[in-house]
Amino acid sequence: MNNGKLYIVATPIGNLGDITYRAVETLKAVDFIICEDTRVTKILLDHYQIQKPLFVVNAQNESKKIETIIERIEFGETCALVSDAGTPSISDPGVRLVNHAVKKNIEVIGIPGPSAAINALSISGVATDSFVFEGFLPQKKGRQKLLQTLAGEERTIIIYESIYRIKNLLEELETYMPERYVAVCREMTKKFEEVWRGLPKEILTEMPNKIIKGEFVVVIAPIGFKM
Ligand code: SAM
Repeated sequence: MNNGKLYIVATPIGNLGDITYRAVETLKAVDFIICEDTRVTKILLDHYQIQKPLFVVNAQNESKKIETIIERIEFGETCALVSDAGTPSISDPGVRLVNHAVKKNIEVIGIPGPSAAINALSISGVATDSFVFEGFLPQKKGRQKLLQTLAGEERTIIIYESIYRIKNLLEELETYMPERYVAVCREMTKKFEEVWRGLPKEILTEMPNKIIKGEFVVVIAPIGFKM
């Protein structure tokens, strides 16, 4: 039997222009595409005039669907995994699928491109030589303890945060690490892209009081960093 391949394809984090030639070529060439939400992926595929069968895999059904996908690849089909935005497997579904594919000796090929964490880091203005990526912090249990631990983390820290908790997170940073310089990157690559830079307290004063819509990445500078 001739194994197919599994491509892990990064897609834009907002601006549809941010996709590589190779990603478009790969999406055009594979037998089927695995996505999180067909509505989101169809916008991208329509933009690039790509028509492919879509197979939905999300956090809820990932373990159930893996076997079927692996079987299809083992029977020779090629498949691309995309997520709603950025690089699959990075705070997104895909880790289990890749893990299973590797165990089954299926070739896994990355088609690199955008990731919100790296984009935020690259525009933050703080040290990039060594950093920790925390993804989403736990919403309740363990959150305060983790923040306490992170206060002692010397390297740059990258956190994903939602609109509902961004102010709350800044207040927590003000409590646990008031002296750390922070870059809050909102809606990167999109129309309302904006970056707030400064100490948590300064950013809280600058941010409008109403709920600020959008997606956020928070980059916390290393201990001792001065702008
Ligand atoms: N896999 C994606 C990646 O490679 O960046 C991350 C997916 S994760 C489910 C979604 C989170 O990434 C958002 O809640 C936000 O924290 C961050 N994010 C994604 N796109 C963003 C953007 N355009 N601007 C700011 N943050 C973004």
